[in-house]
Amino acid sequence: MDREARRRFAVTTARGRFAPSPTGRLHFGSLVAALGSWLFARSAGAAWIVRMEDLDREREVDGAAADILATLDAFGLASDEPVVFQSARTALYAQALAQLERDGHAYRCWCSRSDLEPFGGIHPSSCIAPARERPAAWRLRVGSESIGFDDRVQGPRRQDLARDVGDFVIWRADGACAYQLAVVVDDAAQCIGEVVRGADLLDSTPRQILLQRRLGLPQPRHAHLPLALGADGRKLSKHEAALAVDAHDPLPALRAALQFLGQPSQAERNVHMLLSRASRAFDAARIPRKAAAPAAFAAARNATS
Ligand code: GLU
Repeated sequence: MDREARRRFAVTTARGRFAPSPTGRLHFGSLVAALGSWLFARSAGAAWIVRMEDLDREREVDGAAADILATLDAFGLASDEPVVFQSARTALYAQALAQLERDGHAYRCWCSRSDLEPFGGIHPSSCIAPARERPAAWRLRVGSESIGFDDRVQGPRRQDLARDVGDFVIWRADGACAYQLAVVVDDAAQCIGEVVRGADLLDSTPRQILLQRRLGLPQPRHAHLPLALGADGRKLSKHEAALAVDAHDPLPALRAALQFLGQPSQAERNVHMLLSRASRAFDAARIPRKAAAPAAFAAARNATS
């Protein structure tokens, strides 16, 4: 490949996305995922888009989607293309479900959590529900698949889906498309070449790769970023309002997020200049694997207050 061909290849394969769920305000952990995915894409000259994953109406918080988008804007992380909302794309997901059903990969299931308790929560590969009066979910048959992939941050991974996960839900009994199917359909439809997100989704990746294979879709590369932990040692959640990032003062949190990702610090006082420098200096090999508490964020905050 000559230089220009290599550049074009990188631009298409590095197309990235940030896919927040509107369950609360943007916090430090989601800023790390947004910035990390932006850096992977931009450092390769590729586009970066935002997709709002608003399929779970029960967990959605009013106003959160607009708030997240405004905060991303303030951080200089605006989507290169109009933001796509999953709630408007059910027809696309239904087509994928129909294809899986037609090809014999999906089946209706009425099993409840308590039906699966004797099996340790792992589905026994056929519906065992004693009662079938309520609406059914759809599950994907996993067969005897063991799926491996090479994560750009976490290294090689393998999961025995039959043993560790079992046939999993791709369409929920409440009528909503499940996260696993929607994310796979959208990543393909939006030509995402590189899925960069928090390491809490490492375990979902083999399920998504299996869905890509069953649907005949390309498999993107993956990079799972270290999780930001709260003071209690658990993953930061959007509900920890104290760690919501401040849209009026983006620089300290941006610097702390860069540091959290192992990247060189940037002294720029302008968000766009800082991001542009950071993308030029970006080195994926410096990203730490392990989850950590964002101590630097608190320090950076105090230093500016
Ligand atoms: N919507 C998911 C979340 O907010 C992320 C999905 C993904 O990046 O694949 O946790």
